[in-house]
Amino acid sequence: MNSKRNTFALRVGIGHDLHRLRPGGPLRLGGVDIPHDRQTIGHSDGDVLLHAVIDALLGAAALGDIGQMFPDTDPQNRGRDSAEMLVAALDAVRTLGWNIVNIDCIVFLQRPKLLPHRQAIRHRLAEILQIEVERVGLQAKTGEGLDAIGREQAVAAQCVALIQAGECENLK
Ligand code: MG
Repeated sequence: MNSKRNTFALRVGIGHDLHRLRPGGPLRLGGVDIPHDRQTIGHSDGDVLLHAVIDALLGAAALGDIGQMFPDTDPQNRGRDSAEMLVAALDAVRTLGWNIVNIDCIVFLQRPKLLPHRQAIRHRLAEILQIEVERVGLQAKTGEGLDAIGREQAVAAQCVALIQAGECENLK
């Protein structure tokens, strides 16, 4: 990358994911195991929030998507820790000279309330991404009892990521 030309270069990316729920627990969200009576169904560990973050980062760097980087036809990805996948995606983004400015995420979940777990998830995301927790936003919405999310058949997540060429100043 031409560092002079791209000194102030910014890119934004968006990620979205949805997983079905089944009886059981715990519910893994953002790399945190939340005590619950339902869990996601997925080829990997089914962490819908980390998958949305991966796609937002890959999208911002125009590196494709999670399905391209970690095909669900690859036995190596079965039951895989999504934090590992996020680190690999982050490495690919950083290799091109990009660093994360911030991410903002929304989890769509009828139950349980996410508020008691919000700080733990933000800190875990910051730890995996190696950024300050102030750069990690996390919101939660229910399905208002409607659709697959409202009926507790699914959980979804969205993420927006902003990346910058070169080092980011500490915002604190
Ligand atoms: Mg997924």
